[in-house]
Amino acid sequence: MVVYKFGGTSVGTPERIKEISKLINTDETKIVVLSAMSGTTNKLVEISRLLYGKENLKAIEEVTALQNYYFEVVEDLFLDDHFKNKGKELITSHFNYIISFTEDLFTVHEEKAVLAQGELLSTALLHFYLEEQNIDSSLISALDFMRIDKDGEPDEFYIKENLLREIEKTSSKIIITQGFICRNSFGEVDNLKRGGSDYSASLIGVASSAREVQIWTDIDGIHNNDPRFVEGTKSIDYLSYDEAAELAYFGAKILHPASIQPSKKSNIPVRLKNTMSPLSEGTLIGSEIKGNGIKSIAAKDNITVIKIKSGRMLLAYGFMRKIFEIFEIYKTSIDMIVTSEVAVSITIDDNTYLKNITEELNNLGVVEVDEQMSIVCIVGNFIDESKGYALEIFKALKNIPIRMISYGGSRHNVSLLVNTSDKKEALNLLNQNLFADVY
Ligand code: ASP
Repeated sequence: MVVYKFGGTSVGTPERIKEISKLINTDETKIVVLSAMSGTTNKLVEISRLLYGKENLKAIEEVTALQNYYFEVVEDLFLDDHFKNKGKELITSHFNYIISFTEDLFTVHEEKAVLAQGELLSTALLHFYLEEQNIDSSLISALDFMRIDKDGEPDEFYIKENLLREIEKTSSKIIITQGFICRNSFGEVDNLKRGGSDYSASLIGVASSAREVQIWTDIDGIHNNDPRFVEGTKSIDYLSYDEAAELAYFGAKILHPASIQPSKKSNIPVRLKNTMSPLSEGTLIGSEIKGNGIKSIAAKDNITVIKIKSGRMLLAYGFMRKIFEIFEIYKTSIDMIVTSEVAVSITIDDNTYLKNITEELNNLGVVEVDEQMSIVCIVGNFIDESKGYALEIFKALKNIPIRMISYGGSRHNVSLLVNTSDKKEALNLLNQNLFADVY
């Protein structure tokens, strides 16, 4: 068994759906996990916003526009009128369902049901397309096996039991299902948060004891730097789970950060592949740690740094707990933290409760806030006895102001906080200095 996951752009046009169907038409049994067609979830978020605000006419306008787009997709995807009609009926029923919410109270539960329509549509369209091509496949609903518990964590026991039962019912080599969507502990439609299809694929890989989980995107794996800001980046052949997790979290947009953990726990290899170049190997992620030194650089934007200065920290205990409690109350996770005897600097990437947090922190000391910062993260395998990595990094960045440094938290990450306006230059300087031998 192998799990293939295709993201939004890989199912973004009828042509791409046709390409996928060629890629998956092999002898090995596989579960194909799909995202919604690109842009759809964003549109559904916007439609939900209008429905919340009871802007029903606008919502219907948006729904109709999206529905018409899907009608065009169906026209191009299928050859035969029978399938074109089947596709149109499917689309109409999904969009009528969304429009039915204009009649009712619209809450977060209805929103989740609306967001689920994107994945339900993309998977059904691929299933119909394969049927038209006489390629046998089964469509199973993630709502029948994917579940999160009351803390929002995947219920791995339930997922395994129910997924295996669904798989047993079919003899098809191609089993299609939705990424992202699930049920919660009340049995309501829910989801694994934005970009969650990778997470679905990883959980499905674990539940089905897959030999590999393949995440298919438009780039040949994880690169050694961010190709949007640095020219001539190279794809990395292999990373350990921990290295990949650091990169996924700190910027490499290619993989959802949560998706590494389940695969790591069950030691299922994850391979990042490129739909545009299916024969290239991409990046393999596994348990072994291979090679030392710096492997990749990534950056994460929209970081806010909060500094708390207080004489009360001197030789005190319990001060950090008081700070952390405030972040816990406001469900805001902390990325970087550095301390001195009289101050603590903390970074966050979610400013929803920034005002509340700073108000409460004011009781503990003098608070300073800086926004528009970026974390530049250098990932690799920094073995304890090795020397010189820090020197190389700081030499490269000698002309860039660095606001915070975090080194030693794990063996795989050095994080630096810089102004976002300096990020591109920092990425390029690090590239020239750290990977000089690669070019
Ligand atoms: N369609 C969902 C989103 O856009 C999930 C995913 O694509 O992974 O967030």
